[in-house]
Amino acid sequence: MKQFIVFMKFAGKILSRCRVNLMQVIGWAIALVLLIAWLPIGVLPLVHSTPLKQQPAEHTESTSSLPVSQPHPLPQSLVHWQDTDQQGDYFDQIQPTPLGYLVWSQFPIRVYVEPPIAVSGMGGDRSPIWFDAVIQAVQEWHDYLPLVLVNTPEAADITVLRQLPRLRRQGTTFRAQSAETRYELYLKPQRDRAMLLAQRFTIVLRSSQSAEHLKAAARHELGHTLGIWGHSPVETDALYFSQIRQPVPISARDINTLKRIYEQPTRIGWTVERVGSAHPSTYSKSMAQAAASP
Ligand SMILES: [Zn+2]
Repeated sequence: MKQFIVFMKFAGKILSRCRVNLMQVIGWAIALVLLIAWLPIGVLPLVHSTPLKQQPAEHTESTSSLPVSQPHPLPQSLVHWQDTDQQGDYFDQIQPTPLGYLVWSQFPIRVYVEPPIAVSGMGGDRSPIWFDAVIQAVQEWHDYLPLVLVNTPEAADITVLRQLPRLRRQGTTFRAQSAETRYELYLKPQRDRAMLLAQRFTIVLRSSQSAEHLKAAARHELGHTLGIWGHSPVETDALYFSQIRQPVPISARDINTLKRIYEQPTRIGWTVERVGSAHPSTYSKSMAQAAASP
């Protein structure tokens, strides 16, 4: 902008001295402004798409540094959780992302569940059964972490969609899955030029299952979105790696595992200073991973 003002003053002088064609000068001014304006747009996405990748230690002081990894305060619901029978956990099966554990630090966590088709129960439509099953699973987890339903996917941290998950390759064949959960890390603008390293999830859950198995699948996938990014080797846990004939509720071991995850340090949920004046969208979508269920 400064160059533009200087240029316009300069152009004004030329105009007054030489009586150059006014339209010609305006044309050159527009061309110069476009050139100045274009340069940052072309360069910034390259510069600002890097912050979500892990930086070597010597680069942590640069403009693309990430938040420091540290634990968040334990949510009150988990502070009060006591497993009197001490049934253990499967924390050793949980994978942190390269940026740390997928814990939530802002509550309530906002969940969008795709609504049923308006005319329900017609032509074998299973969408109301699917919807009820997912809502019940949301309510079950709400006992352990605060969740709230929202009306649009744009307002949600977790989006649950009634869709067929992608086919999974097994050797030379492809196998159908009951559900799939994906996460994405992005930088969310905050006040005072700060950016929060945040996560959002999408669950894709097919409706062609019994109500009981739908609820079990929703319970399992929601467990992933709340931070349990891994599977239990024990059949009586909701996060058991395979679907079973008689689904089980959320177990004490599931919550013991959840509590240990929320005690871990992570970069996720902490803020970093915003870099330059780039539009926040240039920071988004740098990491995605999916967990599939059979
Ligand atoms: Zn799973």
